[in-house]
Amino acid sequence: MWTEVEITVNNRRIPGGPQTVLGPAGCGPDVAVLDDVMEATIVKLDETDERLPLLLNLLKERGIRWGERREDRFAEEELEAARLLVVRYFSPDGSIFAGPRVGTTYDMSEACERCGVGARQTSAMVVDGQELHVLEGRRAAATCYNDMLVEEKLAVALAQSSATGISFRGVFAAFEKRGHFQLPWQQLCATHTLPPMSPRSTGVEISQPCPCGRSCFSGDDKIPMRLAYRASAVADIRDVNVTWEWYGYAKYNGDVYDSVLPYPLFLVTPKVRRIFLEAGATGFDWIPIRVVDE
Ligand SMILES: [Zn+2]
Repeated sequence: MWTEVEITVNNRRIPGGPQTVLGPAGCGPDVAVLDDVMEATIVKLDETDERLPLLLNLLKERGIRWGERREDRFAEEELEAARLLVVRYFSPDGSIFAGPRVGTTYDMSEACERCGVGARQTSAMVVDGQELHVLEGRRAAATCYNDMLVEEKLAVALAQSSATGISFRGVFAAFEKRGHFQLPWQQLCATHTLPPMSPRSTGVEISQPCPCGRSCFSGDDKIPMRLAYRASAVADIRDVNVTWEWYGYAKYNGDVYDSVLPYPLFLVTPKVRRIFLEAGATGFDWIPIRVVDE
């Protein structure tokens, strides 16, 4: 495993242009990319690369602000040896708008009254018909609420694989005036919720704590997400699981159809990752969990 640091600088903030800092820091095209659309320079370096402090010092000296993100990168053997992998969708096309505001229904009788944690989906997944381009040409994708969507062939491969902890729901596209149309996709659902993670997890913060203690977790850009679980918590896992903690922004005032619901993360075994990759699914990061004593 190694940690990748991604530095983003707005080109307009660099007097004289990006080369005036990239050159002296020794950052060539192997690590620096100019993003014409964002008008930004993006540099990706190993955390231990000596060019990193050079670059950051140059930016500091010149009073140039930058954005910083850290993520762990893993070798294939490390991913294969993991007990569970956090599934993170990062496709450049983005996620597809879906959920309560588009017509998916939920049972809120056991959900937290303040944040909506524990909302139980009771219908097929309904996605926004205006955003179907997000799914085009893909084998798998996620909704804005981290619901996992798999194209029919991948759904069949998963169903035939004897992978445990899986159930499926249909996926429909909603069009404002023309109603709902079924898509050749399935929603991949998890039947097993893991126990709470170990407090030794890092890179996770709670943005607006709810008294229920179960919502508004989020990643922290500057610290890589490293979820830790006690050995006892992973003694009884399935191939597909969801976290007890729910992530993302929550806005719930009793009316589910006007809410923004938090959502759990998916944790899967290397077997499920292999099936995704064999089907040609792209746009996902897979992050091994750590198993700890307490
Ligand atoms: Zn709550």
